[in-house]
Amino acid sequence: MLSPLFRAHGLLVASHPWEVIVGTITLTICMLSMNMFTGNDQICGWNLDCPKTEEEILSSDIIILTITRCIAIVYIYFQFQSLRQLGSKYILGIAGLFTIFSSFVFSTVVIHFFDKELTGLNEALPFFLLLIDLSKACTLAKFALSSNSQDEVRENIGTGMAVLGPTFTLDALVECLLIGVGTMSGVKQLEIMCGFGCMSVLANYFVFMTFFPACVSLVLELSRESQEGHPIWQLNDFSRVMEEEDNKPNPVTQRVKMIMSLGLVMVHAHSRWISKPLSSNTTGSNEQLGMELDQLSPRRIEPEMPLWHFYLSRMITMDIEQVICLALALLLAVKYIFFEQVEMESTLSLRNPITMAAPSPNQQYNKTCCMRKSSAPRSAAPAAPCREERDEVIRPFPAPTIDCQSKSLFVIGEEDGEMKYDNTEPSLLQNPRGLDECVSIFNNPEQGPYHLSDAEVMLLVTSKHIPAYKLEALMEKPERGVAIRRQMISAKLSCSSALSSLPYINYDYSKVMGTCCENVIGYIPVPVGVAGPLHLDGKQFQVPMATTEGCLVASTNRGCRAIALSGGASSCILADGMTRGPVVRLPSACKAAEVKAWLESPDGFQDISEAFDNSSRFARLQKLLVGLAGRNLYIRFQCRTGDAMGMNMISKGTEKALSRLQQHFPELQVVAVSGNYCTDKKPAAINWIEGRGKSAVCEATISAKVVQEVLKTTTEALIEVNISKNLVGSAMAGSIGGFNAHAANLVAAIYIACGQDPAQSVSSSNCITLMEPSGPTGKDLYISCTMPSIEVGTVGGGTNLPPQQACLKMLGVQGASQQYPGENACQLARIVCATVLAGELSLLSALAAGHLVKSHMTHNRSKVDLHGTQGTCSRRGS
Ligand code: NAP
Repeated sequence: MLSPLFRAHGLLVASHPWEVIVGTITLTICMLSMNMFTGNDQICGWNLDCPKTEEEILSSDIIILTITRCIAIVYIYFQFQSLRQLGSKYILGIAGLFTIFSSFVFSTVVIHFFDKELTGLNEALPFFLLLIDLSKACTLAKFALSSNSQDEVRENIGTGMAVLGPTFTLDALVECLLIGVGTMSGVKQLEIMCGFGCMSVLANYFVFMTFFPACVSLVLELSRESQEGHPIWQLNDFSRVMEEEDNKPNPVTQRVKMIMSLGLVMVHAHSRWISKPLSSNTTGSNEQLGMELDQLSPRRIEPEMPLWHFYLSRMITMDIEQVICLALALLLAVKYIFFEQVEMESTLSLRNPITMAAPSPNQQYNKTCCMRKSSAPRSAAPAAPCREERDEVIRPFPAPTIDCQSKSLFVIGEEDGEMKYDNTEPSLLQNPRGLDECVSIFNNPEQGPYHLSDAEVMLLVTSKHIPAYKLEALMEKPERGVAIRRQMISAKLSCSSALSSLPYINYDYSKVMGTCCENVIGYIPVPVGVAGPLHLDGKQFQVPMATTEGCLVASTNRGCRAIALSGGASSCILADGMTRGPVVRLPSACKAAEVKAWLESPDGFQDISEAFDNSSRFARLQKLLVGLAGRNLYIRFQCRTGDAMGMNMISKGTEKALSRLQQHFPELQVVAVSGNYCTDKKPAAINWIEGRGKSAVCEATISAKVVQEVLKTTTEALIEVNISKNLVGSAMAGSIGGFNAHAANLVAAIYIACGQDPAQSVSSSNCITLMEPSGPTGKDLYISCTMPSIEVGTVGGGTNLPPQQACLKMLGVQGASQQYPGENACQLARIVCATVLAGELSLLSALAAGHLVKSHMTHNRSKVDLHGTQGTCSRRGS
């Protein structure tokens, strides 16, 4: 019920860290300075000497106190150790230390403010250390650290607050009330201690709710690797686990706490108000006690010797119990900082896939253990032994296991710059548990695949308990599924190391699953070049091009330069309509003709478009083109698709429209939702003539000077090549839509970079390039490219993948246009058309000047000895 409130609070604090930090510090200083006026100076400290009480402190008390202090120090040490497992020993350590320090300081200030006395605090301090629970800070930090961006940090702190806030509030209340019982004990020292304890709990709560989240948010913001980069810490696994498991408050415990608090409130009320008259007669004695205490209040030290000398001698003359505590604290600090480095590195190496991919030989696959030993971050993750030495195997969180197992199968080390491979089959390397046991672990909601080794998962795949195609979806994280599939595929290849050069780590497969690719085994990195600035319609664009054809980007760049020096290019969108052409069959050709006539009538069109348009917010039917072949009917649906390329969208709409059509003509049979009348991903005259997707035209006039100096040719030569090659040559070849030099080159390169469907470069490359003499002297060159079927989108499909989105962002067209749906996709089509124009200019110039072969020999011929790159496997003759 209170969660939304806590979430809003968390968001507010995380969004305004400076304000919260400065506000808290200001409040503290104000309380301190107000306290100066109240004149309370009862804390014993470095410069205040506490007069010894007359009570004699027994040696048994000293022993008990020393033991308690030591326990407190060890307790704090263990708390730090658990923080370390977050993957950031120091920053979180500092955060923890900060919590202890700040809550102590804040508690002191609060007590000062209320003018309470603090005599005896020295002895009580260890008990307060035991009150501090770093796990709260740790848990909230985990939420924050599982973020990828600063916005996510805020969101996650909000979520953390929503999950943790109510429990912590209730805990603080119960703790406070419980400790508060001690303030009624009548034992003076205990009352003081409990009073301080209550204040400490409250201050701790205040710090945790305000100061700490603000600091975490600020630290994460400041430590971001780059403006758009990821944070130093990546704990994505944790946030899921935390939300799912650890922090769901147990309703029974919550109820017990509530009842307990109510009971305690009644106890307090009874003792403070109802019993007041009884205790009022003690006021006098309290006053007397106060006077006595005044006499005992600390006195400021004014040493006669130099200050440093005074403090040094004070330190030297420390009591034995203080020496013991100090020594223990120092010892643990040294152990924590210097001797726990190795374990820490293994945790941090998660962040570095390169290290994981090619570990040093002594980090290699351990024949006796398939999992790397590491201290487990979650107590809920028990040991998951997988081979003979099971007792020794401790299950770390998933990533090291995956990499330890999967990579080690391929890469076992690097020698003289060459990767060495271990081709041993996975099944020989690992010794899985029995099938039944693995099945029950897999199906147990409290265990799952996380508790299975890779070999065991493979066993489940081969025994059909896990469908191979679902590996990414069923593992605790998709990357592990991909890694396991690679192992399984590698074992079937004649060259088992074949996949070792196909990267797969560090990729967000969640964006791929169910959308972009199935049976994933990695990803292909393609170099991305940039051509530009492309001056188009008064704007400038840097065009990303993913290609492996040398010269292409350089050549396009030259075209862009020629356009820029001649005042830029202009473009227009002529039409915007994606198409889908199903084939339906009627009992007879005459019946088919009847349906055709109905579809072409205004009533028929309206009825069909109503069914079609209801399928999407953006799809709007524009036109139906109906062709007839015997009793087969081909209906070409054409519609706007907003910023999406629209194939899925239009297919969905077409299905709805066909159902409506069947209602009117029940004898109509749908043969295929795509009858190639669309036409998608195949050369077809219909797209060339009718258009598909965006129809665009782009033009530019290149001055004679630029033609000569940049393109190194003449206008006449260019026009002649264009006519002979692009027009007559293509006609001679019987081309449809191929009246250009290399439009497909530019289209494909931009499509791959920008997440378009690369197969659609087939009809998207339809283009006619025209050139004419221009200007008063006829020496300038007028060039235009007309492209009737550019199939592009800026939402959906591959445009959802982050690298592709980066390229779309370069062009300022990523995502849906907020103002005019479809605007971004149309802008992308214009850019494609203008880049084609730049590419045409440059290539035709190279042809006219006879430079083409020469430049390809320089920039496109592989300099690597091809015989030497056949790879280890071929050389082995496999
Ligand atoms: P899609 O992702 O399937 O559909 C676009 C989605 O984005 C729709 O849900 C749409 O909402 C939503 N959307 C939000 N804002 C939008 C905006 N401003 N403009 C347009 N849509 C917006 O994408 P698609 O372009 O239709 O399909 C692309 C995928 O189809 C690619 O992966 C491509 O490879 C593949 N493809 C499929 C076929 C096929 O035959 N099905 C053929 C070729 C390619 P609504 O739900 O309201 O529409």
